[in-house]
Amino acid sequence: MPGFELFGDLERKQVNDVLDNGVLMRYGFDGMRKGHWKAKELESALEDAFQTNYVQLVSSGTAAVSVALGVAGVGAGDEVIMPTFTFVASFEAIMALGAIPVLVDIDDTLALNPEAVEEAITPKTKAVMVVQMCGSMGDMTALKNICDKHNLLLVEDACQAIGGTYNGKPLGSIGDLGCFSFDFVKTITCGEGGAVITNNEEYYINADHFSDHGHDHVGNDRGAETHPFLGYNFRISELHAAVGLAQVKRLPEFIDIQKRNFKILRDALSDIPEVTFRTVPDGGEESAAFLNFFLPDLETSREVIKSLAAHGVDACWNYYDNNWHYIRKWEHLKELKSLFPITKEVKEGLKYLETKTFEKSDYFIARNISCLIKLSWTEAEVKERASKMVKAIKACL
Ligand SMILES: *Cc1c(COP(=O)(O)O)cnc(C)c1O
Repeated sequence: MPGFELFGDLERKQVNDVLDNGVLMRYGFDGMRKGHWKAKELESALEDAFQTNYVQLVSSGTAAVSVALGVAGVGAGDEVIMPTFTFVASFEAIMALGAIPVLVDIDDTLALNPEAVEEAITPKTKAVMVVQMCGSMGDMTALKNICDKHNLLLVEDACQAIGGTYNGKPLGSIGDLGCFSFDFVKTITCGEGGAVITNNEEYYINADHFSDHGHDHVGNDRGAETHPFLGYNFRISELHAAVGLAQVKRLPEFIDIQKRNFKILRDALSDIPEVTFRTVPDGGEESAAFLNFFLPDLETSREVIKSLAAHGVDACWNYYDNNWHYIRKWEHLKELKSLFPITKEVKEGLKYLETKTFEKSDYFIARNISCLIKLSWTEAEVKERASKMVKAIKACL
């Protein structure tokens, strides 16, 4: 991560195909496009990559989450269980549907704690959204069992974990629906873009229509299409899809590089007794987009972050004080600072945030350090980085 580090001739060639025919729209314009259907081609490449029956491209990862929930019937007043450690997109996408985000603790996988999920289930719960943060995953067997037992939808946000697997299956393909982002910093990037994946034909057809104003996409005459239901514009453009198409062909190469770099860094840090690593569930294999490790306490984590910077090691974070990824700093959510009125139901539904505490999440996030694994590093650079990291950490212990 991120894929832009290795942009090259493949991406240029794909983009030029689109510019040469002038069709930036993914639907229609059959005569002008000289056989180029970049979005359709990318969808079929992703079906292979994710071993899934259906892929619907959309305009972002945030859109993917809204579309995934919406096409499965989640809407006003429904509760969606989600983790305290994620990206703000998770609750935005839930609230855009008029649904209620119910935040629960994570565990040492840095994803949903199955016990916390089960405790949070109410008659209003419709879905559980597991966020596969920083290249790894939650305990998918436990989460799936809970969802089956309570008849809930399992949605996977795999935006940060493309290329990771669980029991040999790509992350994102295990739940009822999976969501991906191809924004500017993700492992595969196309600028702005995302995907919803599913094996459920009805959800897929709904996603196809819903992400394009509810158009039914029947026949060749766009103007004659009808609207089986209301939709919105969550389309991706041909230009974005073209970049994505070049990138997806390189996904296996990107994952190999991530794993090589990850292993060098992890092996080096394993020699420090105070350092422990996140739990990866049995049968799970990380995408290696990030290396995550734990230190003894918050003070040490804060010191190590400073020390890493002083030793010239960039792109490492402790998320405890982070505005984007952890509940502690989400005042705009806790105080419901909305530009426009929000329904009473959602206001009521979010009241729990005034009092609920998240000690278990705090315990893991305070001690966690997350380091981005770059694709452009040479092996020699990674080894040098590893020795700087060891020095920087030891200096604080
Ligand atoms: C990036 C990201 C998103 C949102 O994707 P965008 O394409 O930026 O809208 C959602 N969830 C997670 C976990 C992400 O990392």
